[in-house]
Amino acid sequence: MQSGAAQGEALNAKGSAKPNLVGVLALQGDVVEHVAALERAGAQAIAVKTPADLERVAALVIPGGESTTVVRLLDRFGLVEPIKARVRAGMPLWGTCMGMIVAAHDVAGMEQPTLDLIDITVRRNAFGRQNDSAEIPMVIPALGSQPFPAIFIRAPWIERVGPSVELLAERDGHGVMVRSGNVLGTSFHPELTSDPRVHAYFLTMVAEAAKHVGKASSAA
Ligand code: GLN
Repeated sequence: MQSGAAQGEALNAKGSAKPNLVGVLALQGDVVEHVAALERAGAQAIAVKTPADLERVAALVIPGGESTTVVRLLDRFGLVEPIKARVRAGMPLWGTCMGMIVAAHDVAGMEQPTLDLIDITVRRNAFGRQNDSAEIPMVIPALGSQPFPAIFIRAPWIERVGPSVELLAERDGHGVMVRSGNVLGTSFHPELTSDPRVHAYFLTMVAEAAKHVGKASSAA
């Protein structure tokens, strides 16, 4: 009986997330820009700083920033295990730049802890000093035929993708956008442009996931 009650609570915890509410991890980085871009793309968005905030949202964006700092802060704020558990249970996650580094399996040439939520190896600051910052029009088939203005800022590239990972865009032969099931990663910063297509793409992942959550909670 006890285990039945515990199970019911777990389902309620998941079911209490609002289907259209997207969280933006707000420990450091360009949070405000992502919240605004998500709202422009039609979602409701809130900043996530605590495990209680995380429970309210149906999806999470980890923005750009400084990956070593954020991994430390995630640990200090008790967010590492809750984020891993939610994403493994199907919650959509999108990491932009630093966020993709944090979500990766590992970081090339470094002993940097990560959340290991997508089977990729990334290399930090990979495009070199001359290319520290660049805006590059890129055709990304998943977004349609119009080039997307991809802004790179001290960006990582993706050096290895596992068999479950779909490579959605490359720059100069290096991966810069990937998806594996409910996890999306971009080396660039769609929140810094007015083009809403990557945010809209992520929201289709959120809508897909909501269908499954709907099924789970109606069974509860
Ligand atoms: N260079 C940063 C890092 O490696 C990422 C930069 C960014 O998110 N714009 O953590």
